[in-house]
Amino acid sequence: MPLSPERTVAELHELQELTGDENGAQRVAWTDTWQQAREWLRGKLAATGAEETIDAAGNQWFTLAGDSERALLIGGHIDSVPSGGWLDGALNVMAGVEVLRRIAEEGTPPVTVRLVNWADEEGARFGRSLFGSSAAAGSMSDQDELRQRKDADGVSLPDAIAPFGVDLDTALEARGELENAAAYLELHIEQGPVLESMDLPLGVVLGTFGVERHQVTFRGQAAHAGSTPMDQRRDALAGAARLELELKEIAARTGGGAVCTMGSVVTRPGIVTSVVETAECLLDQRHLDEIQLAEMLDNAKAASRRFAQEEDLEVEWERIWNIEPILFDVGLIELADETIYELAGSSHRLPSGPLHDAAEVARAGVPTVMVFVQSLRGLSHTKLEDTKEEHLELAVRALDRLAQKTIETL
Ligand SMILES: [Zn+2]
Repeated sequence: MPLSPERTVAELHELQELTGDENGAQRVAWTDTWQQAREWLRGKLAATGAEETIDAAGNQWFTLAGDSERALLIGGHIDSVPSGGWLDGALNVMAGVEVLRRIAEEGTPPVTVRLVNWADEEGARFGRSLFGSSAAAGSMSDQDELRQRKDADGVSLPDAIAPFGVDLDTALEARGELENAAAYLELHIEQGPVLESMDLPLGVVLGTFGVERHQVTFRGQAAHAGSTPMDQRRDALAGAARLELELKEIAARTGGGAVCTMGSVVTRPGIVTSVVETAECLLDQRHLDEIQLAEMLDNAKAASRRFAQEEDLEVEWERIWNIEPILFDVGLIELADETIYELAGSSHRLPSGPLHDAAEVARAGVPTVMVFVQSLRGLSHTKLEDTKEEHLELAVRALDRLAQKTIETL
């Protein structure tokens, strides 16, 4: 049976029928609907002879044993956000199914080929993304905090994962799964507007952005809005507003895809008759290059101090969270680029703003690459998420050809 990308599209529709509703996909991890999707996936792979195993973190593996124990891994996640799109995560899994079918049909592969359906990529229920892949990568270290997490109904994370055979005490045993991994491939919808704006179906992902998240607080003095002359004010919002506009310039000067977002500004006292005394800003900065990310952060800090001085304010920075950029494998990037050129006539290399399971696998030292397929209107995490059928089919062909080329290099 040759590769059938049309079947992948039909199966994605079938999965959406089975586990979605009029609001979108409902495959939230650690729920009955998610389990239903996992069982459906098992059925889809039964004919390939791939052996199914569930690891200590709840990841679902399908293994086609090859002549060598070295393994090519193909990954995705069948879980979704509530009322999510039909393609985020599921496309990768179902394209991987098709690749496994093609390989199984041709007989024993020279290396072992494994498809992994990562558990709880989205973190939709407990706010902890990349659960399964971080356990397999050995980077999960927040078990104590996770024990305290509860969902919106008050169910604790340990209670929710127990029925799936997962225990935070032993989840890191999933590390063994990456022991023989020689390469990891992940196909994903772009979830952004870049490829569509360039009129390209496919692109190669260079890595995932490093992120610096800070709370920036400007402090001035509350004063009466009527009696305080303009030149005698210490208006904290003036500092925040000037910083917000300057961020756009800082990102432009930095270049290389730099993005800066002031996602929230809370002002106090927050009434119409008072000058703003404190403005608490939440700032998110991202870049693929560690040095440029650090420079961008320094520039924002310097600008905030300048504005604070000019507006007679105090400013304070507090780091909320950060992660370093994670770069994908140079050789696999070349191979993916070549594959896309062959199939689409042109290719493009781009960073990923969102984190993906692939970032965890790469962090664990497994040579990794991702391929993005165009997202219509750049939308994701909504039922409006979509990709042209011809592009979905091309993406399946690209993953298959890349898998074949990778096997030949292992
Ligand atoms: Zn995803």
